[in-house]
Amino acid sequence: MNSKSIDIEASAGKILKVREHPNQNEGLIFEKSAPGKRGMELPPLDVPAVDPVKALGSEFTRDAIEGFPEVSEIEVIRHFTRLSTWNYAIDLGMYPLGSCTMKYNPRVNEFVARLDGLATEHPEQPAEVSQGCLRILYDLQKCLLSITGMDAATLQPVAGAQGELTGLLMIRAYLQSQGNPRKTVLIPDSAHGTNPASVVIAGYEVKNIKSNARGQIDTDHLREFCTEDVAALMLTNPSTLGVFEERIAEIAAILHERGALLYMDGANMNALAGVTRPGDFGVDVMHLNLHKTFSTPHGGGGPGAGPVLVKRILEPFLPVPVVLQKEDGKFALDFNRPKSVGRVRAYCGNFGVLLRALAYTLAYGPGMRQATEDAVLNSNYIRKKLEDVFDLPYSLPSMHEVVFSDARQKKHGVNTMDIAKRLIDYGFHPYTTAFPLIVPGAMMIEPTESESKEECDFFIEAMRSIAAEAETNPELVKTAPHSTRVGRLDEVAAARKPILRWKP
Ligand SMILES: *Cc1c(COP(=O)(O)O)cnc(C)c1O
Repeated sequence: MNSKSIDIEASAGKILKVREHPNQNEGLIFEKSAPGKRGMELPPLDVPAVDPVKALGSEFTRDAIEGFPEVSEIEVIRHFTRLSTWNYAIDLGMYPLGSCTMKYNPRVNEFVARLDGLATEHPEQPAEVSQGCLRILYDLQKCLLSITGMDAATLQPVAGAQGELTGLLMIRAYLQSQGNPRKTVLIPDSAHGTNPASVVIAGYEVKNIKSNARGQIDTDHLREFCTEDVAALMLTNPSTLGVFEERIAEIAAILHERGALLYMDGANMNALAGVTRPGDFGVDVMHLNLHKTFSTPHGGGGPGAGPVLVKRILEPFLPVPVVLQKEDGKFALDFNRPKSVGRVRAYCGNFGVLLRALAYTLAYGPGMRQATEDAVLNSNYIRKKLEDVFDLPYSLPSMHEVVFSDARQKKHGVNTMDIAKRLIDYGFHPYTTAFPLIVPGAMMIEPTESESKEECDFFIEAMRSIAAEAETNPELVKTAPHSTRVGRLDEVAAARKPILRWKP
């Protein structure tokens, strides 16, 4: 139990000793257990008792759960309610976690997702009685195709990384159908970390290409690397430096000349939506992260959606089933696609997430361009207001995020992690630390369009104040956070020796 004593100075000047209330530091529910406590009361049994082992077999039954907590209803409610107040959330304040796009999720999305006819629909219902749901999928595809300028889509993948794998499998199937699947996929050092992992799972070798001093792909380098063995270039655009690949059309032309394809990681399409379309600048296949750009909730490994959009040449290889509209106007699922790479997920993906994304898209309409412009404006505003106190390793204009480094604060022994932890004391969620890898000591800040100028100013003030502390009182920053229930955690031990279960 949390019997740690704290001192309170009473008005009389006397020191009182009190026990810390669990509100200030919640323990484990197991520690609250007392034998015989329970959360419900059932009436006496008025039917013959059934022996569960006899009814179900010992395979499906157990005598007891070791150390199962015995608590009352209110103890359960308070335990989980208290824990929920420990979370930081976009509904509480700014969440500038670069590359993650922690934007606000408009409540209208939630309203629509909870509508009775949609929330209770069963995925096994035949197409004749699921016309509304199929139309939602079809309309979302149409919206995404018009935003990206691509020709065909699958909504099945449930994460950005799964979209990457799906796209790569389609590239492989297409090249195979041309006679040779080829061996390698080129990846710039400014790409997202999931890209090389997806490439390896798809059975290709990764070849890294270096960015030039401006954080752009060196096209001479690309010409030299793009041999007959290369299946594709996988490009994060905007790159993880938060900058747009300026010579993208030339890059696409180099690849196409040699029979290779251009994959664009479009997880950060929130920097481009409504302004430019990957389909128009030579991209052959891309994925979107609806749980970033299209404002569906994410975090904690929750449900996501990573639709893949392709040019016509890749359409035959889309996962099955494909949602289509028949000549009579009815919607259907097409399973008869002999060249398909197969299923990548049960049913049609995460329907609830897809539904929220459609609600968001229709609510904004052409206003999506304004959202993009605001996201870019916010990140450039923060950049301008902080570039005199933090080192800016790449000076190209920022898009939706800005990447500083801790080079100046390092001189005082303060690194990016320390500054991020100190931000918690100022009431903000930390930015992304130590990513992208090409910037040592990276501080990656993505405010998103959700934040007002006032909130951006508040954040800028906090960051400037921390920069000053790093010079005058580095210890304060290095030992942060000071305002939380627990301070620095042993992150290495948590990853290497996780304790996943409480044992009596
Ligand atoms: C977030 C992100 C991914 C991975 O998306 P998941 O849904 O987490 O798998 C891939 N690429 C980029 C550029 C990203 O920002």
